[in-house]
Amino acid sequence: MTPVNENYLKLPGSYLFSTIAKKVDEYKAAHPDTEIIRLGIGDVTLPLCPAVIEALQKAVAEMGTAEGFHGYAPDLGYSFLRETMANEDYVARGCHIEPDEVFISDGAKSDSGNIQELFAENAVIAVTDPVYPVYVDSNVMGGRTGTYDEKTGVWSDVVYMPCTAENGFIPAFPDRVPDVIYLCLPNNPTGTTLTKDQLQEWVDYANDHGSVIIFDAAYEAYISEPDVPHTIFECKGARTCAIEIRSFSKNAGFTGLRLGATVIPKDLKRNGASLHDMWARRHGTKFNGAPYIVQRAGEAVYSPEGKKQTGEQVAYYMENARLIREGLEKAGYTVYGGVNAPYIWLKTPGVSSWDFFDYLLDNAHVVGTPGSGFGPAGEGYFRLTAFGTHENTRAALERIAKL
Ligand code: PLP
Repeated sequence: MTPVNENYLKLPGSYLFSTIAKKVDEYKAAHPDTEIIRLGIGDVTLPLCPAVIEALQKAVAEMGTAEGFHGYAPDLGYSFLRETMANEDYVARGCHIEPDEVFISDGAKSDSGNIQELFAENAVIAVTDPVYPVYVDSNVMGGRTGTYDEKTGVWSDVVYMPCTAENGFIPAFPDRVPDVIYLCLPNNPTGTTLTKDQLQEWVDYANDHGSVIIFDAAYEAYISEPDVPHTIFECKGARTCAIEIRSFSKNAGFTGLRLGATVIPKDLKRNGASLHDMWARRHGTKFNGAPYIVQRAGEAVYSPEGKKQTGEQVAYYMENARLIREGLEKAGYTVYGGVNAPYIWLKTPGVSSWDFFDYLLDNAHVVGTPGSGFGPAGEGYFRLTAFGTHENTRAALERIAKL
């Protein structure tokens, strides 16, 4: 009998959002006339902006000509995009990142799930709790997480760093020193973030202990406060301890186009091995490049029109975030996030996260995401997203206010 990767069999239940979709489908089947408003999944709703569409159309036309046809893309990314990202995301912010330290990919989910391959099977990983589920699940598949306790939702070998209202959503340094530390800032799901000084402490910690930080910057475009870093490379010493993952999904609506990048400085070495070179090797073997037309579309995000138009989209979503924050506060809820992120994290009124999910679906026909789905410390919280339309967001809040 062919042996299978038994680590997969350890994964509990289905992916959080599949469970939610199933519950909503069942509810819809039982109540076909009910209009459900979805403020659950973090998918965007606005169409791609004109600058991106123009770049796509131009690239598509090129592909139909002998001179403009592009076959396999360079597996690490086209230099036009690697240079643009290095300059716009890093050099323009005073950070030292070179174009060949930017690896273009098909999105932050793949990269944040695949990056664990660079670390040994016995590497100890640390995650903030609650957390974007991909970091933990991909390490389960990699065999690093030990055994799962169904009752507590805790993996025996994972270092959890709770982020709750009690500690202001600021993770404390763990008792056990981890080898790999996942930080997503601004955070999904809590919508909270760290200041540059707070992040600097983590960079210093990682350098002092030889840990590597995987920094997921998917929500960077939503930062509105001046003391919040847009990249971990704003911190001194990050080149020797950090990997940054970027996405085009939330800043420019590429959730269906697929484009992202991982930045690994050449100074990042562990036991003499260059993580930059290892990722280049991995990418070269397992990835055949993001499509030319999509990389041209990504380049257009950084054009003056692209910046203006995507900035307007982010502002549109952040207006929803404001509506949700203020509406929930008025209705008596305690809320967090929504200032530097498109997520609002609310305290459930004395009930479990899943009970509140059912309550909101039954009574307001609004779908959100139960906090406990993101980790044990998410119990008693609930996430709403700002990615709906203004109309739906307002309607959802009116319904919640009436409860
Ligand atoms: N990282 C975080 C923290 C996310 O919340 C998401 C999507 O919701 C992703 C990565 C996935 O991004 P992408 O669409 O680029 O794969």
